[in-house]
Amino acid sequence: MSEFASAGDSAVAKAQHELQEAGVRTVIGTVVNASGITLAKSVPVARLKTFQQSGMGAAPVWHVFTIDGGIAFTDSITTVGDLRLKIDIAGLRVLQGGRAWAPGKLFEQDGAASPACARGLLATVDGSLDEAGYQALVGHELEFFLVAPDGSALETTPWVPYGATGLLDRSEFLDDLLSLLNHAGIPMEQIHAEYGRNQFEFSLPPASPVEAADTVVLSKIIVGIVARAHGMQASFSPLPFTGTVGNGAHQHFSLHKNGLPLFSGGSGPHGISAEGGAAMGGIIAGIPDVQGFLTGSVLSGSRLTPGSWSGAYLCWGLENREASVRFLNEGKSNPHGANVEVKIVDPSSNVYLASAAILAIALDGIRGGRQLPAEIPGDPGRLSDDERRRANVRLLTNSPSAIIDTLDTSRLARGLLGDAIVDATVAVRRYEQRIAADLPPDELSERFRLAWSI
Ligand code: GLU
Ligand code: MG
Repeated sequence: MSEFASAGDSAVAKAQHELQEAGVRTVIGTVVNASGITLAKSVPVARLKTFQQSGMGAAPVWHVFTIDGGIAFTDSITTVGDLRLKIDIAGLRVLQGGRAWAPGKLFEQDGAASPACARGLLATVDGSLDEAGYQALVGHELEFFLVAPDGSALETTPWVPYGATGLLDRSEFLDDLLSLLNHAGIPMEQIHAEYGRNQFEFSLPPASPVEAADTVVLSKIIVGIVARAHGMQASFSPLPFTGTVGNGAHQHFSLHKNGLPLFSGGSGPHGISAEGGAAMGGIIAGIPDVQGFLTGSVLSGSRLTPGSWSGAYLCWGLENREASVRFLNEGKSNPHGANVEVKIVDPSSNVYLASAAILAIALDGIRGGRQLPAEIPGDPGRLSDDERRRANVRLLTNSPSAIIDTLDTSRLARGLLGDAIVDATVAVRRYEQRIAADLPPDELSERFRLAWSI
């Protein structure tokens, strides 16, 4: 996102001029909070510099707004105080309809980064990788269900999973989506009709971690704009409808050192290098601790069922869709090179935090010299309990309270990402568990079907 690359005064003036030339009247700046919901402030374009330099006021409770519009107060996050939401003009993008968008970060009034700001944390983790000599690229997949404006299921003709039918049935929506993504400079790689009825998925190319996460936020905004224009909404809930597949938000990543890939050209299985294997070992070892950042919402666990390609088994394997870590080999059919896909992530997570957690445990694995665990080549669901035990494969927990209790007590998660973000995440997710306590699964899915929509 380099159109408006430099952040000095003249760069802001230039950016403002270009926005005005492009007919932009309003600039929207967003942050994603611990609930995975996107919050925003907007300014008239003439206030671009103030938005970037002083920022707009945001109460500290922004970190802990919940999916039902409530607030999960903590000991340190109360009604007192003020944060500043400042936009990063390097990420400015022009949308249609006189609007522009930029990613934002939350700062304290004295200019220090707010420790619970997810985008700030991801930048810090990326900085640690860089200092250690590693460069990460992250590639995201976005899955969503199209629904009626009130969240109910669309009337629909027969649905063919991965069928051409869905592409034709929704061709006007898909055309407009592609055109708006293009207009905003987002290079969508491909889109298809997914397994679920009225479910679609598109993928984004690898980019540096913060930029890649920014692009996910903007993509969700654009999906929301186009869905509305077509009299629909898009659900980014992990399980919009019970009894069928959910929405994943799979994250692929690769690591390089001195320009050389860690996941190919080495002497381990499939050419994985020793450091690449250590990074994968760190991911497998660390997932339970940080699962609250990847699948932490009250609906996340219901998606994590065997046979739904959500990676519910804690293991890794080449092209294994039932493994939480799927390995994609280099080769002619993989233009992006070897990479690791963390499949368990769902779209109720905070995309910045999920990337920060994944990259942090990968780096921890490298630092700790972890071994790559044995590969699980087939569907772990086809093994007997005994075979799974011997292969050291287990199902990840799908209990929201267990996932969050583990995060709360994890020294690894607190050590790698800080108490502020762990405490905020634990607070909002326990709040969700309280409000959901008496809801049967159908009602729970229905009530929060649009909770993570933009
Ligand atoms: N919808 C599945 C999930 O919940 C993923 C399907 C796929 O592999 O694309 O993660
Ligand atoms: Mg998919």
